[in-house]
Amino acid sequence: MFRYQNNRLDCDGVDLEQIAREAGTPCYVYSARAILDAYRDYDAAFGSLPHMVCYAVKANSTLAILSLLARAGSGFDIVSGGELHRVLAAGGDPSRVVFSGVGKTATEIEFALEKGVGNFNSESEGELALIDEVAGRMGKVAHFSLRVNPDVDAVTHPYISTGLRDHKFGIDIEVAEAVYHRARGFKHLRASGVSCHIGSQILDYAPILEAAGKVLALVSRLQSAGLPIDHVDLGGGLGIAYQAADQPPAIQKFIADLSARIEESGLRVMVEPGRSIVGNAGVLLTRVLYRKKSPSKEFVIVDAAMNDLIRPSLYEAHHEIMPLRHAPELNRSVVDVVGPVCESGDFLALDRDLPDIQPGEYIALGSAGAYGFVMASNYNSRPRPAEVLVENGTWRIVRRRETYDDLIRGESA
Ligand SMILES: *Cc1c(COP(=O)(O)O)cnc(C)c1O
Repeated sequence: MFRYQNNRLDCDGVDLEQIAREAGTPCYVYSARAILDAYRDYDAAFGSLPHMVCYAVKANSTLAILSLLARAGSGFDIVSGGELHRVLAAGGDPSRVVFSGVGKTATEIEFALEKGVGNFNSESEGELALIDEVAGRMGKVAHFSLRVNPDVDAVTHPYISTGLRDHKFGIDIEVAEAVYHRARGFKHLRASGVSCHIGSQILDYAPILEAAGKVLALVSRLQSAGLPIDHVDLGGGLGIAYQAADQPPAIQKFIADLSARIEESGLRVMVEPGRSIVGNAGVLLTRVLYRKKSPSKEFVIVDAAMNDLIRPSLYEAHHEIMPLRHAPELNRSVVDVVGPVCESGDFLALDRDLPDIQPGEYIALGSAGAYGFVMASNYNSRPRPAEVLVENGTWRIVRRRETYDDLIRGESA
C-alpha cells in the first residue's frame, strides 16, 4: 500500500522517488501485496460456498499482474481474444476463464474453444447461433450463460452504468427465459448459468443484491423447466475510494451479503471484480516540468498526460495528487495539473489546492491501478509509460517504457 514514511511516499516500504528516478516518468507502480490482499478478501469471504473469483482482465491486463493472480488461483473474465492470449501467456487456466462481451467474432470464439475456455457469457441469440456453429464444426460443446439485463439502476457515472433496459448490454431479463428455451435447439451448446453485470464503481451494492434476486428467480424457473443451470455469475462493479469522501463497502461485507442470498439455491457463484482488485493497488508517477500562471489560473505542467491516464478527461474522475516528498512548510495554491498533449481536455486534476511543488519534483496520482495503463494510447506519438511491480520489499520493471521505434513498429512509409 501507499503511505508516507519520514515524509516520503512509499509502496510497501519501497521509496517511490527512487523508482521514479531509476525507471523514469511517467511510470505506473503497483503493489503486489495490495492486489493479492483484495483477491484473497473475495476468495475467503465466500467461505464454503462453491465459488470462483474471475478477475476482470480489462481493468489491468499487465502480464505480471495476471500471473500473480493466476498463481493465487484466480479465474479470469475476458472480453476479447487478445485478453485470452494474455491470460494464457501469464499461466492462467483456460477452464477457469469466462468469455464476456457484446460482440465476439468467429475467430475469437474458435480461439476460445480451441484453448478450452470454461464458459461463454453471451448477450444475443445471433451470437449463440455463431458459437453453436463454430463448436459444431470443431466437434465440441460450448457452455454458456446469457448475460441478462435485470433493469436495475447501479447509480454510478452514466458511461459505466450497464444494467438499465436501454443499455446495449445483456438480454432483457423478461425476454431471456424464452431465449434459453429456443437455445435448446442448438446441439452444440449447453446452458449452464445466468450472468449479469450492472455497472462499475458501485458504492452502494443494494442494486447488485436486487439484480441477484431477479437472476435467482429466473434460474429457478429455468431449472423447473429442466435446464441444467448450475451457476450464477453476478459480474463485477464494486467501487473503490478515489478520495476520502468515498465510502466503498468492504469486500468481505459485500460478499457475505451476496452469499447469504445464494446459499439456499445450491448454485455455484461467480463474480468478476476488476477495479476493486487493482484500483487502489496502483499509482501513476509523474514529474513536474513547469509552473505557469495565466491571469485567472495557475497550471502545473507534468510529464504524464491524458494518453497515459484518460479517466479525468473521460469521466471527470478524481485522482488524489500526492507529492512524493511531503513538505508541510510549502505555500499552497489552487492549480490545474495538466499534461503536454495538445487538447484542452488534457488534464489530470482541476482546481486542486496543492503545495507549491517545483519543476523537477515528483507527484503520484492515486488509485490509478484500474482503467489506467489499459486505456493508455500513443496519442501525440507519446510512448506509453513503464510499469513497475513492488513485491517482497523490492521492485522491478514489468513493462519497459515504449521507445520511438515501438511507435512506428508495423508501419510502412
Ligand atoms: C467491466 C466488467 C467487469 C469488471 O468491472 P469492475 O467495475 O472493474 O469490477 C466485470 N464483468 C464484465 C462483464 C465487465 O464488462
